[in-house]
Amino acid sequence: MRISEFRPTFGDFIPKTLEDGVLYISRRFSTASHRCACGCGTKIVTPIRETDYKLTERDGRVSLTPSIGNWDHPCQSHYWIRDNKVVWAGAMSKDAIRAGRIRDDADRAAYFAQVTWPWWRRLARSLTDWWNRMFG
Ligand SMILES: [Zn+2]
Repeated sequence: MRISEFRPTFGDFIPKTLEDGVLYISRRFSTASHRCACGCGTKIVTPIRETDYKLTERDGRVSLTPSIGNWDHPCQSHYWIRDNKVVWAGAMSKDAIRAGRIRDDADRAAYFAQVTWPWWRRLARSLTDWWNRMFG
């Protein structure tokens, strides 16, 4: 069953067994945890620190940014928690996710493209790199 709203619970420790619909927040360990909002039961851990998630509180309601994308899990759920409410990402944003992942992989893709480049193109590239290092 899909969860439409989370109840934030603050505590030092996050219990081993999580309840559906509860967002466990540990300030001590700067982390939050919940069971996936799609109801699949997967435990989702969202570290709260600059490089990961940001937790904002307003009138006892919490929001997590950025969105929670469970593409490492079979359900592939993607949603936001805004003012305790679950906001599901539509099919549109799945394309956006793909686009984002492609961007992330762009460097690697560029590298593999180079491997298959003809010799003259690789030579031109190394000359450019050398030129940039020397005079760039
Ligand atoms: Zn799920």
